[in-house]
Amino acid sequence: AIRLADVHLSLGHGAARVHILKGITLAVARGEAIGLVGPSGSGKSTLLMTMAGLERPDFGSVTVAGRDLSGLDEDDLARFRGRNIGIVFQSFHLVPTMTALENVALPLELAGERDAHLRARAELDLVGLGERLQHYPAQLSGGEQQRVAIARAIVANPEILVADEPTGNLDESTGQSIIDLLFALKRDRGATLVLVTHDASLAARCDRVVRLRSGHIEATPAPAAA
Ligand code: ATP
Ligand code: MG
Repeated sequence: AIRLADVHLSLGHGAARVHILKGITLAVARGEAIGLVGPSGSGKSTLLMTMAGLERPDFGSVTVAGRDLSGLDEDDLARFRGRNIGIVFQSFHLVPTMTALENVALPLELAGERDAHLRARAELDLVGLGERLQHYPAQLSGGEQQRVAIARAIVANPEILVADEPTGNLDESTGQSIIDLLFALKRDRGATLVLVTHDASLAARCDRVVRLRSGHIEATPAPAAA
């Protein structure tokens, strides 16, 4: 589960400092899937990074899997993230000097786990990249890099998966297979999903859609009475 209470966050320095998140209060239950939508610049990526403990709020609290993240120093936070949170970045953030297989094995190796390459290979098979294990990111298409990023995010079996536009660079059929994969994680591993998306078919699969506008959560209209 994820709980944010009155979270404020500003980024940038001096005159370029911008107040981005303006009092976000949100609870995501364990095993729930949330679709995070809203216009470009509304703060979706920033909110996702804050939930993942990659940005620290200026005010308010972020609790993930029962831990108040403000109580963790940078090392503990990194360890906590590695064990509990899988992150798919909007721009993938693959390590360019590592092959697909090495990229996916990395979180397991950092955690000192055995069989890292074996498990990485299994996740790459799962996302349909079993034939691209030894390719470097620059040798992969955007959609393939995206799938490597997803394999890397799920390889350590995190309780929480946050993904920024996970189908943004994929054709419709690959996108659909990634959506099926994400929701299989929810079903089979009880994962909590927070998915930033402009993809209506992905938002429709979520238990709930949260809409951001200028750093605020828009009140969702009550469902119309039948
Ligand atoms: P998109 O749909 O285009 O990905 P988004 O909803 O994910 O947009 P964010 O990336 O969270 O939006 O950015 C929210 C706002 O914060 C934008 O106006 C952006 O310009 C600003 N912003 C993001 N990072 C910084 C930064 N490091 N310094 C200053 N402003 C920033
Ligand atoms: Mg974004």
